[in-house]
Amino acid sequence: MASKVLIVEDEDSIRKFVKINLERSDFHVSEAETGEKGVEIARKEDIDIVVLDVMLPGIDGFQVCKILREEYPNLGIIMLTAKSQDIDKIMGLEYGTDDYMTKPFNPTELVLRVKSLERRMESRNEDAQESILEMRPFKIDKYSRKFYKDNIEMDVTPTEYSIIKLFMENPGKAFKRDEILNLIWGYDFVGDSKIVDVNIRRLRSKVENDPSKPEYIETVWGLGYRWKTQD
Ligand code: CA
Repeated sequence: MASKVLIVEDEDSIRKFVKINLERSDFHVSEAETGEKGVEIARKEDIDIVVLDVMLPGIDGFQVCKILREEYPNLGIIMLTAKSQDIDKIMGLEYGTDDYMTKPFNPTELVLRVKSLERRMESRNEDAQESILEMRPFKIDKYSRKFYKDNIEMDVTPTEYSIIKLFMENPGKAFKRDEILNLIWGYDFVGDSKIVDVNIRRLRSKVENDPSKPEYIETVWGLGYRWKTQD
């Protein structure tokens, strides 16, 4: 089934342009020209992915992101920004965005990123028998895309879930940052692999007992990360 994308952007030309391009790729698209309206639509409609501009009249994209993340941890969020100083904030631990694009951007690339995020969010057609993967104290349910620690469901973003799944399916394997970038985001991310590090940091704050002394997600110096097998 086609994903539902909500685009929140006050500039009509950009909003329409993005809408047309996404619709051409068979997405269902809703639009909002303010953050307030965006939140309202997200609450009413069954939205999968939000393309969210930072600069909005009224509440800005950061505030919208925070509200939506809190209410819908599984929502996919891609932020748009024209200011390079926003990127550190977007990538920060607080907002938990899945991806971002800087303006001006190529709409074809935005569509690719929405598709990549959609792939991360899709539950695979795994049969029920192998849908549960357990590695104490953790457990994932690949069918419902839920993640548990000590049998308590943890709120994870679609991207964090994908990383956890990759790790749990490959315990002990050292992944290079670029490899994670490719496997999770599915394209060469313009910029660097910082987005991987930020997501790992956020994940650690959720899975580790003491994020400053990671027991589960181990840093492999000069390379990347590894899911430590527990025994
Ligand atoms: Ca704007």
